[in-house]
Amino acid sequence: MYTLSLFLSLLVITVPVSAGWLKENADIMGTRITVELFHPDPAVARQGVDRVLAEMRRIDHAMSPYLATSELAQLNIRARQHAFAVSDELFTLIQRAQDFSDLTGGAFDITFASVGFLYDYRKAIRPDAARRKKAAALIDYHNLVMDKDRHTVAFSTPGVRIDLGGIAKGYAVDRCIRLLQDMGIRQALVTAGGDSRIIGDRWGRPWTIGIRDPREADKMVAVIPLMDVAVSTSGDYQRYFEEDGVRYHHIIDPQSGDSARELRSVTIIAPDATTSDALSTSVFVLGTRAGLALVNRLPGIDAILVDRHGELHYSDELQPAEAAGERHAAATRTSAH
Ligand code: AMP
Ligand code: MG
Repeated sequence: MYTLSLFLSLLVITVPVSAGWLKENADIMGTRITVELFHPDPAVARQGVDRVLAEMRRIDHAMSPYLATSELAQLNIRARQHAFAVSDELFTLIQRAQDFSDLTGGAFDITFASVGFLYDYRKAIRPDAARRKKAAALIDYHNLVMDKDRHTVAFSTPGVRIDLGGIAKGYAVDRCIRLLQDMGIRQALVTAGGDSRIIGDRWGRPWTIGIRDPREADKMVAVIPLMDVAVSTSGDYQRYFEEDGVRYHHIIDPQSGDSARELRSVTIIAPDATTSDALSTSVFVLGTRAGLALVNRLPGIDAILVDRHGELHYSDELQPAEAAGERHAAATRTSAH
């Protein structure tokens, strides 16, 4: 038996939670947080859930682009004028984002926000072509000047902004899993929107995660059994509006400043959620060919793509014909498109 949630791009198949297991949802970081875990001592289990939710709130307060008081919002204002000193945590995450930019040839680029702030998907607002092109010229991760010794960040050009929306949720999930591990919890799932990480098994069996159909929220295109991995899905159905038959959504191609439109969804399986989060956004921008080529040359990373025609594409190790391995089990196609 499973339940489907419209809020989750990854649909977690659940059975009733029994003794020692605790499951809770909360709305934090502008998304749905789910934590499900086991500990034989109910007090420890309760504490685990509370710590996860508190950690999510802490990271949201530091990294939300929507809170004027967040460290990220402050950086966007102050780094225009001069080098702005940030916390070790923010500096390190920005550095990791820059590493993903190098790895993906600039498909992942947190300076996408130099254009991104001109869109409001809820209000169906977008820049016209001239404004978009002008702002897109500011997107380049090299426009961030990072001082490793002083932990400062400066923008080399006026108008540059950053946003960590493509990596912060995965980072938060990793932090939460670390907290739980430090408490001695060995079986858990932590999800923040489309980003999840799993430790251990669930009642002696792998966790089962479904990938939803990008066009029909209550249909799944694949179900994958997983243990001790992270999974992220990026989709064009999460934040979008349509105008004259064109879908404007929240994943921006740094080259154009416009939404990337070759794919409808990308699911990445990786050892940690920071990686799966950043790579799901990156592969979405890269498209089928370049995206799969990147995934196939990265050890320990797998991908399932749904292209703009609804066709499924798998990375080499996930080809459905292959026998299911313990960690990267072959995806089972459950509905045809
Ligand atoms: P995800 O759902 O993980 O793919 O994250 C999408 C979010 O990533 C968007 O809402 C933006 O905040 C951010 N984003 C969009 N385009 C890019 C890009 N090219 N590089 C890095 N982050 C991006
Ligand atoms: Mg992502």
